[in-house]
Amino acid sequence: MESICSICGKIIPEHRQRRRAKSCSDKCGALLQKRKYHQLNPYSVFTQNVSGAIAEYRTIIDLLSHGFEVFHSVNPGSPCDLAILKNNKLFRVEVKSLRYSASGVPYKPTKPIRADILASVMPDKIIYSPPLFNYG
Ligand SMILES: [Zn+2]
Repeated sequence: MESICSICGKIIPEHRQRRRAKSCSDKCGALLQKRKYHQLNPYSVFTQNVSGAIAEYRTIIDLLSHGFEVFHSVNPGSPCDLAILKNNKLFRVEVKSLRYSASGVPYKPTKPIRADILASVMPDKIIYSPPLFNYG
């Protein structure tokens, strides 16, 4: 069965089909990887500052919907981005905007975390470590 390159519509050569390639050439392969990356990371079209702000506000909405009181830092150099209050206890939250690789694997934060809770904000979900139910 002939397979069609999803980038240019040409027939994928047999030696590439044997490797289960979805593109006709390395050039189309690179474009396909780029397309997958942008589909997995819709916020990647924004600057790092803007995608960081989007991640912070998404986390604020998520924490509010989990019943926390949320406080937002006014200084970008603060040791945490947010603070949450629940049952008279205050916890520091650091927000990290994370992207997926073209193969769908999330990148891990590289810098050490200075807060109590890390909010890893991916395009489709937010993962808290340690998990939020520890603070309920
Ligand atoms: Zn092609």
